[in-house]
Amino acid sequence: MKSSTNTIYNPPWTHVYAEREALSYPIAQTVISALAKRGSQVIEIAQYMDIFGRTHQSFPAQKASQALILAVKHGNFLYPGAAVCQDFGNSNFYYTSFAMNCPFDCEYCYLQGMYSSANIVLFVNQEDYFSEIQNALAEHPVYLCISYDTDLPALEGLTGMIRRYLAFASGQQTLTTELRTKSAISVTPLADGFSADTLSRVIMAYSLSPDSIISRFEHRTPVLSKRLLAVREAHAAGFPVRLCFDPLLSVPDFKEVYGAFLAQVREALHDIPVLDASIGVFRISDGYLKRMRRNRPDSALLQYPFSNENHVCSYGARGMEMVNFVKGELAGFLPKNRIFTSFTS
Ligand code: SF4
Repeated sequence: MKSSTNTIYNPPWTHVYAEREALSYPIAQTVISALAKRGSQVIEIAQYMDIFGRTHQSFPAQKASQALILAVKHGNFLYPGAAVCQDFGNSNFYYTSFAMNCPFDCEYCYLQGMYSSANIVLFVNQEDYFSEIQNALAEHPVYLCISYDTDLPALEGLTGMIRRYLAFASGQQTLTTELRTKSAISVTPLADGFSADTLSRVIMAYSLSPDSIISRFEHRTPVLSKRLLAVREAHAAGFPVRLCFDPLLSVPDFKEVYGAFLAQVREALHDIPVLDASIGVFRISDGYLKRMRRNRPDSALLQYPFSNENHVCSYGARGMEMVNFVKGELAGFLPKNRIFTSFTS
């Protein structure tokens, strides 16, 4: 499916479904007040899964006109990091989801295989997450990714969730956080008022791709030059910065496309310290891929004849070649021990 910006559908967030239980939370009030100025309609619901979990929803149609769902999360708040996710050498690797789904529309996004709805859920009870993180911290240091299953920085202007999280994290000396994004938002206001010590424990991780990949497959996301400026700004604001070359896609002229891209990255960032980098090829569970292909039947990217190993679909031996090529291009830019790789073969 092409980028879903068009004139047929409502713009995003014209409709906000809010659990009655969620309405009294400050984040819900912040979001509703902001969207009221745009004329959005609020519809009270009993349980978010009544809307989000319905069967026979169209992920692509909802992506074209995303609604927002405000909910209170119950049950687990912290999950162990999945085997296909890079832990960057950290033990006690967890992730948490303050939100589900993302305003961007990447053709390869696993969320379209994971959820039956493309609407964005915001869980407004952040304090409950903080309590559970503190329980884990009482046992051991924690490495926590808070921008999986969403792009939290892209939603920050609406939610303020990252600023709230930083206020919590500032008191947690043994908590290291990763915030992954494709956005190019200005992070200087995010950092404002927090100590250098607090910010040093919050890694801003930028997913970077060649412009030809961005324009073809990463719909609604900023171009590379803007992302590179955002990396520089994050460093200047006091955050450690991580570069994520993941997922690499098997495109024609791979070496030329990625070679020129990596030269652009090296040139733009040669004078700032980059914490580390991850390199990974596109990889997805066969169950998710089946749903993704159904959602995007015209996607050449998804229809590729992947090799399937233990129910993970990827590029096989070619994937290893792709990773090794990118790793070679980063030699001299980053020490080997700060380049982390993920692939299946
Ligand atoms: S930015 Fe990440 S979470 Fe958002 S659509 Fe793209 S791949 Fe999915």
